[in-house]
Amino acid sequence: MIEIVYQYDPKTSRPVPPPATPAEARQRLCDGNRDFVAMFGDLSASKDSRQVVTFDLADLGVNQVKGAAPRQRPFAVVMGCSDARAPTELIFHQASNALFVVRVAGNVLGNECLGSIEYAVRNLGSDLKLLVVMGHSGCGAVTAAVDAFLDPSRYLTVASSQALRAIVDRIVVPVRAAADALERVRGLRVTKAPGYRRALIESAVVLNSAITARTLKHEFREVSAENIDVVYGVYDLVTRGVNLPDGVGTKSGAALFNPPLSDSGFEELSEKLASSAAVTRILDDERLE
Ligand SMILES: [Zn+2]
Repeated sequence: MIEIVYQYDPKTSRPVPPPATPAEARQRLCDGNRDFVAMFGDLSASKDSRQVVTFDLADLGVNQVKGAAPRQRPFAVVMGCSDARAPTELIFHQASNALFVVRVAGNVLGNECLGSIEYAVRNLGSDLKLLVVMGHSGCGAVTAAVDAFLDPSRYLTVASSQALRAIVDRIVVPVRAAADALERVRGLRVTKAPGYRRALIESAVVLNSAITARTLKHEFREVSAENIDVVYGVYDLVTRGVNLPDGVGTKSGAALFNPPLSDSGFEELSEKLASSAAVTRILDDERLE
C-alpha cells in the first residue's frame, strides 16, 4: 500500500518554520521531491510505503480570530505546466500555504503569469525565498512547438487560434536553440536519427524552462539573490524526480539549477544537452517515434 498522509496532530504538530534563506528553500523542495520519489522506490518488495506531510491548522483558517482568513506565507513561487501529471504540491511534498503556484501550458511566461509572480514578490513578504520554473518531460505544448518547427504546415492548426499561438510561439525559440545545438554537436545527419523529434522535445523542455528562469531573473533583477533566488528544473514523468537529464543534471536525487545568465552560458547549456547521455539514448531509440 502507498499512503501520503496530510497530518495535524494537536499533541505533536508544531508549525514548520519557513526556510531562512533561498538555499534552505531550495533544499526543502529537493528533500520533498526526494521523499516523493522514495515512496515508489521498492514496490517490487511489496513493502508498504507511507509518508506524512504535516501541516499547520492555522494555514487552513482553523483557530484564527473569528472571521479572519489565514495569512498567505509561501516560501516559494513555482511556475509549472498545467499538465495534470505534474501536480506541484505532491511532487515537492508540501502542504497548504507553502507554495504560490502558477500553472500554464508549457510554463510560458505571458503577462498574466508574470503579473501573478510579481504580485507574490512584491506582497508576500520575507517568507518568500525562491522562484522556481518547473518544466516536465513529454510536455504537450513543447511537442506542439517542435511539430510546427519540423513541419510548418502543422502550424496551420495552431495559427487559427490566437490563444494557442500565444503559447506555441513562445516555445519556438528554445526549440530552434535545441535544433541548432544538436546540429552543431552531432552534425546535420542528426535530423535523420530515429529519435530526433523526441530529442528535440526533451532538449527544448529544458531550454524553455531555463529561458523562462533567466527572464524572471532579469525581471526581478533589483531583488538580490540573497533575498530571493531564481532556479529551474524538469520533472521527469517516469522517474518522478525533479532534476535535469542524465549528463546535464546531478547523478542522483532531486536538484534545482540556476539558469545561465549570459548568451555564452546558454549556448554551453544547449550543447551540453545535445551531447548528453540522455539525448544520445533518445536519438538511438527507434521506439520513440
Ligand atoms: Zn506540459
